[in-house]
Amino acid sequence: MTRESALRERICELAKSMFDRGLTGGNTGNISSRTPDGGLLVSPTGTSFGRLDPGRLSRFDAAGRFISGDRPTKEMPLHSAFYDIRSTAGAVVHLHSCHSVALSMMPDADEDNFLPPLTPYAIMKLGKVKLLPFFLPGDPAMGEAVRGLAGKRSAVMLASHGPVVAGKTVESACFAIEELEETAKLALLLRGANPTLLTPSQIGDVTERFDVEWDE
Ligand code: ZN
Repeated sequence: MTRESALRERICELAKSMFDRGLTGGNTGNISSRTPDGGLLVSPTGTSFGRLDPGRLSRFDAAGRFISGDRPTKEMPLHSAFYDIRSTAGAVVHLHSCHSVALSMMPDADEDNFLPPLTPYAIMKLGKVKLLPFFLPGDPAMGEAVRGLAGKRSAVMLASHGPVVAGKTVESACFAIEELEETAKLALLLRGANPTLLTPSQIGDVTERFDVEWDE
């Protein structure tokens, strides 16, 4: 098996795992990854994470030209924005995940630091998550909003829509977006319960120990 065919299998396997656990439903969600030759593999438009076909993923070459497979997701501008502004981005994943969407609708949602500091894991895997405003589906302005962050954030939350996370590998991007959704679920479970949050000094210890990009 070539490195690219192994990557194709891995993308579909990770997407199916997230679909099977209800992290994105129907034909929502999209995923992309850099290929060993500097190109890109992207989930096709209208496809379900439960049934992605490794042989039909949209394939771009290193110059960004579409070369094979089905047509890519309409949310491609979101993916391109992360690759263009973050040199470390090797993969990008986007979900329509229930709890993070619910948290984005709360009147007191924090735009600069969307997730409350409940556990160290979200901080380690995501850094600060930026809450972006609502955009019409497929609006290229979403990509522009990501570009506006100047590469400082690896994770954003699109209000009333869903999270988008970049990672070094397709695994790390998926694990990070799962942590985002789990933390949003915890935040909703604990809403109004006055939970113990990590203190600024504990957050500082985590970001220092694990070398987290923590955009102040
Ligand atoms: Zn979407």
